[in-house]
Amino acid sequence: MRQILLAGNWKMHKTLAEVKAYFEVFLKGLEKIDLSGKEIMIAPPFTALAYSRKLTEGSPVKLGAQNACWEEKGAFTGEISPMMLKELGIEYVILGHSERRHIFGETDELVAKRVEGVFRLGLTPILCVGETLAERQNQKTLEVVKRQVEIGLKGIKELSQRDLVIAYEPVWAIGTGITATPEQAEEVHSFIRDSLLRLYGEEIANKIRILYGGSVTPENIASLINQPNIDGVLVGGASLDPEKFLKICSVTL
Ligand code: PEP
Repeated sequence: MRQILLAGNWKMHKTLAEVKAYFEVFLKGLEKIDLSGKEIMIAPPFTALAYSRKLTEGSPVKLGAQNACWEEKGAFTGEISPMMLKELGIEYVILGHSERRHIFGETDELVAKRVEGVFRLGLTPILCVGETLAERQNQKTLEVVKRQVEIGLKGIKELSQRDLVIAYEPVWAIGTGITATPEQAEEVHSFIRDSLLRLYGEEIANKIRILYGGSVTPENIASLINQPNIDGVLVGGASLDPEKFLKICSVTL
């Protein structure tokens, strides 16, 4: 049985004062929620990671970063080392998010380097994949997702002792209010599961969690999470409001 991962991506939002106010509400609310079978993760901006760790100490909240370099240290101006993240108690790193790919020009190869480095240095990568609207309209969804998964994971040969997460995030659903239907999402998730099976074998493929992301709300989470291959969600906009994210975390499994 895969543990459901409910993950929030704050993107470039929240000052330290806002982070404090958020966790005051969120941590209190979490105490009233049945978290069995669920794991909660939030990825604040880098500037708020240390403070978020301090505020969430002893709580069920795990923390993630929104990107990371593939090297431990060196001349990489503007980058953040996985070791520096580890030192702060960070467990997950979101990689290859569509905003990194489309706004900052990150290629499949660059994403693969980040995934390999983060994995090698002991953190859990959340590899994001997903097609644009034009690619979906041209029936290229599965081809694009296959390429992003296969290239993104090419540096990870051995997975038996370690964790890895994939997030399927159709670009046309991110921040648009348009959600993939549960059936559309499940089709791609089960396709990703098959790709993982070919790469790592059945036992490991069945352990890897595949999240859905793209305009997830308290209203649509239940129908998504009910699908057999949807093992959680990566939430942008709705994770910024503690009350909304609490409702998402309250989903009945
Ligand atoms: C995201 O940023 O990964 C995302 C899915 O955003 P939103 O939930 O706002 O669509």
